Amino acid sequence: MGIAASPFLNPTADRPKDAGRKLTAEALSRRARQRRQIQGLIGASYVVDAIVLLIYAHAGTTSASIGPAFAICGLISVTGYIALSEAGFTERFKDHYFVVPQSIISMIIMLAFTWIAPEVGVMFLCTLFVVFAFSSLRSTPLQTAVVWTAMAFGLAGLFLLTDKPISLPHETYLERFATMTVFILTIGRCMFIGIFSSAMRVSLYKSGLALREANKRIEELAELDDLTGSFNRRCIMRFLDEEIARAHRTNLPCSIALIDLDWFKRINDTYGHPTGDEVLKTFAITVFANIRGVDRLGRYGGEEFLLVLPDTPHDAAARLLERLRTIIADLDWSAFSPGMRVTVSAGVASLNPTETPDSFLARTDGALYKAKAQGRNRIASA
Ligand code: GH3
Ligand code: MG
Ligand code: MG
Repeated sequence: MGIAASPFLNPTADRPKDAGRKLTAEALSRRARQRRQIQGLIGASYVVDAIVLLIYAHAGTTSASIGPAFAICGLISVTGYIALSEAGFTERFKDHYFVVPQSIISMIIMLAFTWIAPEVGVMFLCTLFVVFAFSSLRSTPLQTAVVWTAMAFGLAGLFLLTDKPISLPHETYLERFATMTVFILTIGRCMFIGIFSSAMRVSLYKSGLALREANKRIEELAELDDLTGSFNRRCIMRFLDEEIARAHRTNLPCSIALIDLDWFKRINDTYGHPTGDEVLKTFAITVFANIRGVDRLGRYGGEEFLLVLPDTPHDAAARLLERLRTIIADLDWSAFSPGMRVTVSAGVASLNPTETPDSFLARTDGALYKAKAQGRNRIASA
């Protein structure tokens, strides 16, 4: 049912953090609907109890007026709350479900009827259990303590300060039937509350998972370049700093490469910017398919990419870059446009002891410049 996925069970869901935040009209109407549903259940519960009281009355256990009087009291409390809720009054309070006042009113009704009709006391005392089970779903520990203390005083007054013969009627067949119904209803309501709370736990668990997935995705997106799916500049520079620090710490080699697409402006001019974008994507996918999981490719700027190769000595890095260069040059680019050719140039460098990221990058950039100057579609070493 709708209320199973409800914030009713979470006393902190809409407070105190968002207490100062303005709720949207949609959220307000959802909350009002939620309150109507819950009050509807409580009202129906009073009516069902009144029917059982009429069975007791039919059995001669109690007066015929007790059932209707009980239903009227319960429905007045429910209607009063719905009126306050619909008028928006309850929204002024953190506890917009009015859990504490409503529990105390229900408790007063139960204790009063136990006092008025002790011959069917079992009915009201059992309902008291349900009231507390339901209210504790939403209450904070402090609210629970307040309601429990009030109930303890009320019961003490009833049991110790009066000598009412509070009964569990079981003399006649009809009385036994009515008392059995009271127990069946009480157990059923307690089970409903249990199912309600476990449905909510499942729903909270699922939203927790979805939230974690969404956060992960946001983190990933914040690290990636939209067009190529490679890391963005901020992220690849962070990897570079980390790798340099690690290489200095462990004395393991570390190589990097700056890869730049040749004559890319001409590709844009000849085939159009959208085709240029597709070329960049294809270039990145091709590199991804040919590097190790630990290697990182990031967009350094425009059509220039930085490849970070941890634990890689210079000759292995140069071999990898040569392989990448050949693969790119040999790709069938005519699928994009007949006659299209794409090549890359790259500068490769390996980290020197105590070298900083800036000088490491500057040496690599120098190597790239050399590759361009030597005619492009080639790899140059720093
Ligand atoms: P060189 O061989 O010397 O590198 O020549 P080049 O034309 O590649 O170099 P230049 O730096 O003159 O031009 C780079 C071009 O890359 C210019 C710019 O419009 C284009 N470019 C940069 N980012 C993007 C992009 O995201 N998409 C497209 N389609 N083009 C881009
Ligand atoms: Mg270029
Ligand atoms: Mg460039």
